[in-house]
Amino acid sequence: MWDALAARRDEAVDFALAHGLIKAGPQGGAVHAPFTLTPAPIPPALHRQLAGLTAPFNAVVWRLSRDLDALRDTLEPAAAGDPFTARLLELAGSTAGSQPLHLDITRSDYFLQPPDGDAAPRPRQVELNTVAVSYAALAGRAQRLHAYLFRDAPVAAELAPNDPVTGLAEGMAEAFRRFGHSQAEVLHVVQPDELNRFDQRLLEFALRERGVPSRRLSLEALGREGTLREGHLWVAGRPVAIAYLRAGYAPADYPSRDAWRGRELIEHADAIALPGVAVQLAGSKKVQQRLSRPEALARFCDPADPAEAGRLHATFAGLYDPEEPVTGPEGELPAWRAALQAPSRYVLKPQREGGGNNLFDEAMVAFLADSTPARRRPYILMERIAPAPRRALMVARGEIADAPAVSEIGRFGLLLADGARLLRNADVGYLVRTKHAGSTEGGVSAGFGHLDSLVVTGSPFPPTP
Ligand code: ADP
Ligand code: MG
Repeated sequence: MWDALAARRDEAVDFALAHGLIKAGPQGGAVHAPFTLTPAPIPPALHRQLAGLTAPFNAVVWRLSRDLDALRDTLEPAAAGDPFTARLLELAGSTAGSQPLHLDITRSDYFLQPPDGDAAPRPRQVELNTVAVSYAALAGRAQRLHAYLFRDAPVAAELAPNDPVTGLAEGMAEAFRRFGHSQAEVLHVVQPDELNRFDQRLLEFALRERGVPSRRLSLEALGREGTLREGHLWVAGRPVAIAYLRAGYAPADYPSRDAWRGRELIEHADAIALPGVAVQLAGSKKVQQRLSRPEALARFCDPADPAEAGRLHATFAGLYDPEEPVTGPEGELPAWRAALQAPSRYVLKPQREGGGNNLFDEAMVAFLADSTPARRRPYILMERIAPAPRRALMVARGEIADAPAVSEIGRFGLLLADGARLLRNADVGYLVRTKHAGSTEGGVSAGFGHLDSLVVTGSPFPPTP
């Protein structure tokens, strides 16, 4: 089974290239994106549970983003030590809010934590992404690859279909129609040297198929070329219906005054900001940590469903302010001291998105050992989640690895509202990123993750081919 599958490497690489499972190559052109040949098993009940968490988490983000006082209250201490958070928070306070339409694309990422004993594994949320959520298109292509490889195998019936880019395009197309201007376009705000641009382009093409035209621009170019007139944001003679950010989450996306002006234009115009700066901040690490307190979470849950907060909270790992007391084998200690004593049990995270920013192991110890309260303030400590490794075949740069691996499962969500009225709030599919069991970060762009798919089964993979 394993040899027969591994022998199909070249066929799988060609399938990937032929079907858009690709990224930009370092020397230009396209290369295949990293992928696996072995879908990740998930028990049926857990599969349903994860999909069912998406809409409630979306609504929490939406309600929280409408409560600027709560955001300020949570983020001001971090903003005091992090100029980027401070600037975004300031911008959140300055928006006119003339656009009643609200559109969010989210992705909630989980590991399945193995139980002590025989119980089913528990989902543990890694984080909830609310800005520049990526891999909706490539995740669907990875599933197509697996459907192709296993089409005549008994396991075919258990492969979980996945087409998130269609769900995103449909939601965006509805928002576009409701914006209601015949000349309008969707503006994709992108990083100038984006290697993951095919994932972005596939969404752009899916929008075009639904009658929605797009344009791509960096924040800096938007700042130079965009104008505000009659409430609209105008670019190249057309009003922007949706300003869709695939950039703007990292300080490096704001290299100049022009780039900040680009972001301000989006916030101040009546374009649907996807996301607005308040939603972006609602997905930040400090907010995630605050929401791990049951009373803070309950405030933003559905008042009509008293059990909802408990269901969401059950997926949280320990999340701590560095100064907050935690109880360990040595008694009660500030979390940062507990992390120094047991580094393998924690991850240190700054107020950043996009992968590659977190501190693990020695790097975390080196930072914490000579830190001051002021330097620690914009960070959170998170309990390290340890998913169970399984054997997997992973293909990157044309080379195959047969090695122990762990998978992170993301669920894509789309929410559309008009003022206080929810129009759509749904789970639209999933992302699986599988990495070598020993590596810490899991980003595909960062070179660690391999695009994967799910096989819904109670037994370990692979079942009989
Ligand atoms: P970012 O917003 O930069 O993507 P994440 O919080 O998603 O940051 O973390 C990036 C990666 O680090 C995750 O995809 C995961 O592989 C790893 N990671 C993050 N938090 C944990 C954790 N608590 N336990 C184990 N691994 C983690
Ligand atoms: Mg992330």
